[in-house]
Amino acid sequence: MGRLIRVAIIGAGVVGASIARVLSMFEDFEVHLIEREADVGWGVSKANTGIIHAGYDDEPSLFPLRAKLCAEGNRIWHEWVKDLDIPIRWCGSLVLAFNSEEEKILEELLDRGIRNGAPSLEIIDHEKLKMLEPNSSEKATSALWAPTAGQISPWDAVIALVENSVTNGVKLHLSTEVKEVKVVGGQISGLETNEFFLKVDCVINAAGLYADKISEMAGVGGYHIKPRKGEYLIFDKDAEPKVNRIIFPTPTPISKGVVVTTTTDGNLMIGPSAQDLPENLREDKSNTYDGLKIVWESASNLVNKLPPRNKVIRFFAGLRPEPSGGDFIIRDCNEVFGFIEASGMRSPGLTSAPAVARMILDSLKVKFDLNPKPKAGWKRYRRRIKRFSEMTFEERSKAMNENPRYGRIICVDELVTEAEIVEAIRRGATTIDGVKFRTRACMGACQGSSCMYKVAVILARELNVPLWMVSLRGPGTEIGIGDVKALFIEKNKSKGKAKIDGEKL
Ligand SMILES: Cc1cc2nc3c(=O)[nH]c(=O)nc-3n(C[C@H](O)[C@H](O)[C@H](O)COP(=O)(O)OP(=O)(O)OC[C@H]3O[C@@H](n4cnc5c(N)ncnc54)[C@H](O)[C@@H]3O)c2cc1C
Repeated sequence: MGRLIRVAIIGAGVVGASIARVLSMFEDFEVHLIEREADVGWGVSKANTGIIHAGYDDEPSLFPLRAKLCAEGNRIWHEWVKDLDIPIRWCGSLVLAFNSEEEKILEELLDRGIRNGAPSLEIIDHEKLKMLEPNSSEKATSALWAPTAGQISPWDAVIALVENSVTNGVKLHLSTEVKEVKVVGGQISGLETNEFFLKVDCVINAAGLYADKISEMAGVGGYHIKPRKGEYLIFDKDAEPKVNRIIFPTPTPISKGVVVTTTTDGNLMIGPSAQDLPENLREDKSNTYDGLKIVWESASNLVNKLPPRNKVIRFFAGLRPEPSGGDFIIRDCNEVFGFIEASGMRSPGLTSAPAVARMILDSLKVKFDLNPKPKAGWKRYRRRIKRFSEMTFEERSKAMNENPRYGRIICVDELVTEAEIVEAIRRGATTIDGVKFRTRACMGACQGSSCMYKVAVILARELNVPLWMVSLRGPGTEIGIGDVKALFIEKNKSKGKAKIDGEKL
């Protein structure tokens, strides 16, 4: 092997994590994945529609990278979800047309999809549409059917990618914010962070909504990222009717439109809206009356019936990182040797991430004149935490006999046991959100009002910290701060230490 290339990837979202996994396959790289949040996947990758698009949306003459990488990414995800045990429904998507003008748009999408290499696309009539999706609107005249589209759990995807990368030698640095990109003599020399200085040969910029800022730090820049807000409503699991497929309207120039879909966990979800925000509002994930109203009305047009409003359990919003040029920015920057951009990752960035990772590997090969050597013993597979809710009766009995913590239900809505929460913590969760995204505790109808406290007690016990220091999502969000009386009482009883006894939960 030649010399070891030290690579820092900024951002543990789906793009950075995919790059980490691909680079972890080779002996030639020492990979550092740097994330300023307390956990992985908490940026744009957490709050989106979670669709693995088929690849017909983007016109290759206008957005060549989006067009090429989406169709390629879709193909790779079909393999990666099996390698990494990521929840997915390969249910296909439908774009509905309601009049002759929209039918013309379907023809354009079909033609574009064929040019992009999206397989098995078909325009179907009203009858076939009703067969594929009985809850689709009676008024829809035809639809574009894309059987290769899928619904993924986006945060599970990032967690899986990072777990697999770390197993294969990637060094993960959480709560580590890049403050400066050091360039000496036109070449990357290292990164200054709030925690340490890291000497590296190469920096890959996968910083999502902040990628333009990182690029400016390296003295490259030349583009801007603007947040485009998307709001959603999510229904309780027992809310009916649901949909079997992902349902889109015909797209507009700025958005694929409001979608009706069922998540991998069985919740009906509608959204997103599309509202451009000024550049300084990159953290504005608030919900608005207007945004939610648009979502409700647009979704209502696509289906025969939505569940009643009182079945909505949560609103949320995500921010798309819209690059000023429109297309993804994936390039090896000649201005600074060793600085590579994986930026401007707006939709379909989730779909495209694995293909982006392979493109970055190709860039590194050229830049560092490498013929990388596959890593001996590289582990292709990773398994997710076994869910009690998905076990058969026999499996549950066996699990409880082997580990009595499977017999303690912590989250009643989602049937999450203490054993799963302890396993999530063992795998790296240090916060309530970290446990939530790994197990679904607090994601049910009560949204944590009955189980969040119990999760906090387990976190305190397992991490050996005072209960009041357990946080929702890292420093500054400690649950003991504010009007949470029960926690203060608990703290006083145990003189600053959390109770250790799980029996008392
Ligand atoms: C409303 C909405 C709907 C979408 N729907 C879809 C869809 O259905 N299908 C699809 O394919 N795509 C979709 N997308 C797009 C997709 O979500 C994004 O393209 C993708 O998640 C971007 O991933 P990322 O890794 O580039 O960014 P992120 O997930 O944001 O990751 C970047 C990370 O960098 C970290 N970071 C930033 N600055 C620093 C710093 N200075 N130091 C250290 N760390 C730093 C951040 O904390 C963050 O975790 C949607 C997006 C939105 C918002």
